[in-house]
Amino acid sequence: MKAVVLETRGADGVHYQEHEKPTPKEGEALIRLEAASLNRVDVYMRDSGAGITHSLPQVMGVDGIGHIEEINGHSDLTIGQRVILYPYEFCGTCEHCVQGDQPLCLSAKIPGEHINGTFADYICMPIQSLLPLSDNADATQAACLGVAYLTAWRMVFGKAKASPGKVALIVGAGGGVACASVQLAKLAGCFVIATTSGADKIEKVKQAGADVVIDYKQEDVVKRVMSITQRKGVDFAIDNVGDATWSSSLKSVKRGGDIVTCGATTGSHPSADLQRLFIRQLSIHGSTMGDLTEFSRLVKVFEEGLLKPVIDSVYPISKALRAFDRLEHAERFGKVVLNIT
Ligand SMILES: [Zn+2]
Repeated sequence: MKAVVLETRGADGVHYQEHEKPTPKEGEALIRLEAASLNRVDVYMRDSGAGITHSLPQVMGVDGIGHIEEINGHSDLTIGQRVILYPYEFCGTCEHCVQGDQPLCLSAKIPGEHINGTFADYICMPIQSLLPLSDNADATQAACLGVAYLTAWRMVFGKAKASPGKVALIVGAGGGVACASVQLAKLAGCFVIATTSGADKIEKVKQAGADVVIDYKQEDVVKRVMSITQRKGVDFAIDNVGDATWSSSLKSVKRGGDIVTCGATTGSHPSADLQRLFIRQLSIHGSTMGDLTEFSRLVKVFEEGLLKPVIDSVYPISKALRAFDRLEHAERFGKVVLNIT
């Protein structure tokens, strides 16, 4: 089969080439992949991969969709069925799996990180990590759900407990997960304030559903948030930017409010501002990915047409290197997708 393989670290180490076709072990299915999307973590794996147990060469790519070609073991799924990959191989027996919280599994393995990934003609995944996907679902959009949209789902619904009437602040809404958070917070019925920079991105964030977009390069974010909320502050902030914005996010949240993070692209050691934290009784939540129940809810909402992932561009898998360039381009907005079939 053909695959996008990381042979050595760095952009020069990524090759679209022949790779051995996998064979499903007991409890696994062989999937003929149809589409996959790129995530920031693919760049992290390419350039560093530090802290993630794996060996090179490795097939890249975390999320994707495809059709089942072979099943080794018992399953309600059938050969030829279209499926979406829940991007976790989990044990099902540790304390976290028993509680249904697969992202905390003590022996979790993620495609494209710990094991061979989705930028390939084929992948083998545990049957329990496959959810049926409607044949009518848009392939390009469905391929974006597994990482960015699932991560946003848990932050917005699970951690921030978004509900109608709440006011949300989504920081750096030009990014994939943050843009997904704008869409989901709006879907939850929140009033959504977002930050980004530049006229083009401001317009696109508005189209994604934000009620107000603040250009953080032109305006003081905290002042503007306080003005919009009659000096109360927002109910919750979602901030994956880190060092550059954490302080203003803390100052933008109302008393008793929540701040959720799933990333720290500008650095992960901002001031904790403990005095503000305890006096105003703020809650900080770390979050990553989501569990199978959350994923099936997300897929259902998508299949019902209530959510349309924002796509920047689509490349054939043979042009994966160009797709990586696009992912890192300053003007990119939304997801970069690989068409595999
Ligand atoms: Zn487990």
